[in-house]
Amino acid sequence: MLVVGNWKMHGSKAENESRFGLLAARLADSPRVGAVVCVPFPYLAQAESALGASSVGLGVQDISAQATGAYTGEVSAAMAADFGCGYAIIGHSERRSNHAESASTIAMKAKRASEHGLVPIVCVGETLEEREAGRTALVVTTQVNEVLDLLPEAGPQNFVIAYEPLWAIGTGKSASGAEAQQVHACIRASLCGRAKRLKAVRVLYGGSVKASTAADLFRQPDIDGALVGGASLDAEEFVQICLAASGVTSAEA
Ligand code: PEP
Repeated sequence: MLVVGNWKMHGSKAENESRFGLLAARLADSPRVGAVVCVPFPYLAQAESALGASSVGLGVQDISAQATGAYTGEVSAAMAADFGCGYAIIGHSERRSNHAESASTIAMKAKRASEHGLVPIVCVGETLEEREAGRTALVVTTQVNEVLDLLPEAGPQNFVIAYEPLWAIGTGKSASGAEAQQVHACIRASLCGRAKRLKAVRVLYGGSVKASTAADLFRQPDIDGALVGGASLDAEEFVQICLAASGVTSAEA
């Protein structure tokens, strides 16, 4: 199980300090779940020093598709790795829509992440219109395959998918466990059809996950964790989601 917090463009040095402290202390003994936080770039140094000795992993929310050079404002995979990052969110729907990221750019970013030892967390998901038109399975498996075409070495250790239906992101309207499972099963079948070794690739669910909805999602056979936006800004709520993933109820924590 893997639970990843996406802080988006939130935080300040003061706020982060208390969040990092709480996460490091409360997640110290949760061996069955990997917890990762993806912070804004300016806070990587602070995160590395606060979490470096803890069991909480560090990631970024995006990286450049370029390796190095005259690309003003961009941050490379090598730079993220230099700050101790182990993960990079790639192709989040906010990047796809606000920055017009194409399939080839997203695949290239995933490749750059892999080249520098970062595990790409590749986000896929359908719009409400696509869902209503019965195109969900086609849309998400196409998005996965566009990236895998450029990553022949992808496997369970170095590649993660996050299924994030666009209608559930930041809306408070999470897919139910059963709804999400249907799509996760499609993704799993498509991975298996491509190569046997891809069967164990982790497929996270993202979209308005909260502590109160996490257990229903995590008990589904093809849901291997969560990508959490808004709720990850509340450190205690994020901890509760991680504990749900590790099978520990809040009463036991
Ligand atoms: C996200 O942005 O990846 C996300 C899942 O956000 P939220 O949890 O706020 O819906």
